[in-house]
Amino acid sequence: MAKTKRGKGLWNTPSRGRGTCPICLSTRIKLLYSAANSEGKQLKVCKKCSSADAKIADQAVSTVNLGFRGRLRRELNQRKTNQ
Ligand SMILES: [Zn+2]
Repeated sequence: MAKTKRGKGLWNTPSRGRGTCPICLSTRIKLLYSAANSEGKQLKVCKKCSSADAKIADQAVSTVNLGFRGRLRRELNQRKTNQ
């Protein structure tokens, strides 16, 4: 079986399989795992969050077009703590 989470295969995926995790807000992390929220929507999350339950996945924020910029990450963290 091919390794889908390692090596050259990742280079063909968008951003080489990396991005900002919508749950823990880790930047430049591999987003190769999926978690479902309470609506059954699948989210791309990091390995740490792959076991997150639906309640946690509901708090996920959109990281589309977020990039790897630290300033946005700070804003996201503030939004997260204000909830
Ligand atoms: Zn995560």
